[in-house]
Amino acid sequence: MRDLLDKIRNDVKLSAADLRRVLETEDEKILEQIFREARRVKREYAGNKIYIRGLIEFSNICAKDCLYCGIRKSNKNINRFKMAADDIVKLALQAYENNYASLVLQGGEIESEEYASFIESTVRRIKTGSGGRLGITLSLGEQSPEVYRRWFAAGAHRYLLRIETSSEELYGKIHPANHNFRRRLDCLREIKKAGYQTGTGVMIGLPGQTIEDLAEDILFFEREDIDMLGMGPYIVHDDTPLAKRVAGFDKEKQLMLGLKMIAACRLYLKDVNIAAATALQALNHRGRELGVQAGANIVMPNITDPQYRAAYRLYNNKPCFDEKLRFEESGETIGYGEWGDSPHFRKKQGRNSLK
Ligand code: SAH
Ligand code: SF4
Repeated sequence: MRDLLDKIRNDVKLSAADLRRVLETEDEKILEQIFREARRVKREYAGNKIYIRGLIEFSNICAKDCLYCGIRKSNKNINRFKMAADDIVKLALQAYENNYASLVLQGGEIESEEYASFIESTVRRIKTGSGGRLGITLSLGEQSPEVYRRWFAAGAHRYLLRIETSSEELYGKIHPANHNFRRRLDCLREIKKAGYQTGTGVMIGLPGQTIEDLAEDILFFEREDIDMLGMGPYIVHDDTPLAKRVAGFDKEKQLMLGLKMIAACRLYLKDVNIAAATALQALNHRGRELGVQAGANIVMPNITDPQYRAAYRLYNNKPCFDEKLRFEESGETIGYGEWGDSPHFRKKQGRNSLK
């Protein structure tokens, strides 16, 4: 382990085997040092601020049937809702007035012209209403290249599409046969081509997932040259087919694996934005702070109206309320009123403008 820690301290590029060792470690003292180094790398490459995005989960209507997700189409045990455009715009502008510089609009996946133009006009209204100053990230699943372009033109500048796992084989096991890994990957590439700061991520601790798979995921993020990461532990949802494949869900273990994955990504990818996902918070009331201590630099407080939160449950025990954000103890300040772009993306832009 000494050699691994030396490599980390000296910023020597880690190998896949090193990443596996980071993910496998259970020694608390070593983990403490790994997390400390991840925070150092975060400060060096992404600054000492934590940026916030207000998360609006505006609809749980979804055409897909991912085997792990509580709002999958076949789950009949939930009430479906879609917020009206007026309410989304109102909430967005309220967030703006409360110093949120950036928003994430997330929802189930619908591919239709009606939906595409609903999002397009809503994004445009938020953009205009905030004098162009509110940053907008979309997380609305797989769409056609044309739709991604329209939403970008309307003013969205970031897009999150988790690959869920970079192993095509494992992807096949956690989705129905008509969900397609290749299409998801193509979509991720189209998002980047359309000009978005591009985010992806995986679920951590899925049934059947190995440490090798997770190390491969990190190499995948590098290969795809992604700008932002949103990853979180997999959490069982009882009304889903995947729940039946989980024998004894170990919260503590899932949390630790999630934190180690954040640290490994920070150490390896350095200048990307990494979110401390809401799933961490569902496993531990300090999950988000722990994520920041492991090297994350983005948090996404849920600002959806509480009346909708019970219906937007991707997994068991989704947290319903956001307590105050406190990161001062780990030496970080919150970048209120700032977009907090991915430094990785900015560097690329800088290079392009020199060409
Ligand atoms: N429908 C869009 C966005 C909403 S779902 C999409 O799928 O891209 C957002 C993310 O929630 C998914 O990418 C998935 O990684 C995560 N998610 C779903 N079910 C989960 C579960 N049971 N545990 C942890 N994360 C889950
Ligand atoms: Fe729909 Fe996203 Fe859930 Fe899959 S993960 S069922 S696409 S909301």
